[in-house]
This record gives sequence, C-alpha cells and structure tokens, in this order.
Amino acid sequence: MHELGLCDGIVAAALKRAGDRRIRAVKVRVTGHPVDPAVIEQGFRLAAAGTLAADATVELVQDQAEVRCRTCGAEERADGALGLAACVRCGGLDVEVTGREEAFLEAITVDQTDGHDEPAATGG
Ligand SMILES: [Zn+2]
Repeated sequence: MHELGLCDGIVAAALKRAGDRRIRAVKVRVTGHPVDPAVIEQGFRLAAAGTLAADATVELVQDQAEVRCRTCGAEERADGALGLAACVRCGGLDVEVTGREEAFLEAITVDQTDGHDEPAATGG
C-alpha cells in the first residue's frame, strides 16, 4: 500500500518540524489522482501511533490533477473524477494523467509552549 508509505514520510516530516512539541494538526497536500481522505487519515493514524503526532487531525488539500488528451492534445486541469476519465475539451476517453502524483506535508499546528516566546521571524 503506497498510501501507507507516503503517510510514513508525512509523519516523519511533521515530527521533525515539530521538534519535541505535540502536534495538533497537519495539513497534507496531494496532487495527481484524487485520494480518499479516509485512506490517508487511516495511514496517518498507523504511522503516527505512539508519536507526538498520534492525536493530530489530518486536513487534506487536493490539487487538481493535470490530464492530457491523446485525441486532441488538450492539456487541462481535471475537475474531479470525471475530468480524469474523459477529455474536458473533446470528450475523448483516451486521456492520461500528466501531473506528478505526490503527497507532502504543507503545514503543521503544534501545542504552544508556555513561558517561552520565540521571536517572530519577519522579512526574508
Ligand atoms: Zn480531447
């Protein structure tokens, strides 16, 4: 199950970013084929069990996949599952997903630590 593998990576990245703080929530961005949020959440639960991310809520952000039509050559962003099955321009069924399929950690929310104000980084 490659979903579990990618969840391992997401949990590892979240833990690394959080340091020793408890993770409240993670935001995961997924590109390519639409994924079932329940599958990602389940994988995350398994990967995060026993870690500081065990109680984190998982928010999934799905980017639209890019598809290319072999019939008319159109390259479009697929609007949901239907766009992955048929060309939005000519209706042809010979379409392929061209966008890379990947999932990565976009943001995490961690517990605020008491009595320890970190200076906010500005500029950049
Ligand atoms: Zn087409």
